[in-house]
Amino acid sequence: MKKTEVITRLAPTPSGFLHKGNLFNFMLNWLYARKCGGKVFLRIDDLDSERAKPEFVEAIFRDLEAIGMDWDLGPSGPDDFYKKWSQKYRTDRYVELIKTLSDKGFTYACECSRKLLHEQGVSAEYPGICRTKNLDFEQNITSLRFNREALGFASGDPIILRKDNIPAYHIGSICDDIDFGVTHVFRGKDLIESTQLQKEMASAAAISDYDDIQFQHHDLLLDSKGQKISKSAGNAAGSQEGLLIKEFAVWMGLSPQSNPIHNLADLMALPLSII
Ligand SMILES: [Zn+2]
Repeated sequence: MKKTEVITRLAPTPSGFLHKGNLFNFMLNWLYARKCGGKVFLRIDDLDSERAKPEFVEAIFRDLEAIGMDWDLGPSGPDDFYKKWSQKYRTDRYVELIKTLSDKGFTYACECSRKLLHEQGVSAEYPGICRTKNLDFEQNITSLRFNREALGFASGDPIILRKDNIPAYHIGSICDDIDFGVTHVFRGKDLIESTQLQKEMASAAAISDYDDIQFQHHDLLLDSKGQKISKSAGNAAGSQEGLLIKEFAVWMGLSPQSNPIHNLADLMALPLSII
C-alpha cells in the first residue's frame, strides 16, 4: 500500500557540533514536511559509538530548540534518546539486514587494512581485492563488504559490517528509513553515491518499499572561499537564529526581500518550489 502521509527526517551524527549546512538541510526537510502537513522524524545517528559524544547529542537539541524546530517522531531530549532511541537498541534489526544480504550471496569478508589499501595506491573506490578469497567474517580481523559484482560494478564495494562488529552507516540508514516510514529524504549532493549504494542494497535485500522513498539532493552550502562547510563555526544557531533562517530563505531562493523573515513560521508563508 502506498503511504499517503509525508515523513521527512533530520539525521544528525553526534560526532561533532552541527554547522550551518546541517541546519539548512534540517530546515529544508522540516519545511517540506510541514508544508505537506506531514511529519518530521529526528533520527540521531550514533552507530559509531566511539565518535558519538553526549555533549554533541545535547548540542543537537539545543540548536534545534534555538531555531524553533519541532518534530513528531524520535527522542524528546538527550535522556529520552539514551533511554529509548540510541541506535544501539536497533542492532538486532541492522544485523538482520546484513544477514539477509549475506544469505542472498551479496557479501564477502575483507581483510584489507587501511594501510594495505594505501600502500596499493587505493584512494577512492575499493577495487574488490577480497571478492574471491572466501574469507570468514571474524571480529577485529575482517570486515564485511557489500558485493556489487552481480550489479555490474567491478569496484566500490562498501563496508556494511565493520571490523569492530558495528553495522555501517548505510545499513542503519536503510533500516531506519523503512521502519519509521520515511517518505522523502532531502540530502546534500555529497550523498548522491550513498543514495545509489543504499538503493542497491535495499534492492539486493528485496526491500521493495524502499523504492517508494523519494530522494532529492541539494547543493551544498559553501563558505566564503567556495569550500563545502564541514565544521561548525561555533555559534551555528545560538543568538543568530533569525539571521540564520533569513540566510536559509535566500539560499532556497524563497525571495524573502518582499516578506520579512524572522522565524520558521515566516518561512511557511513563502511558496516552496520543490513541492
Ligand atoms: Zn579486502
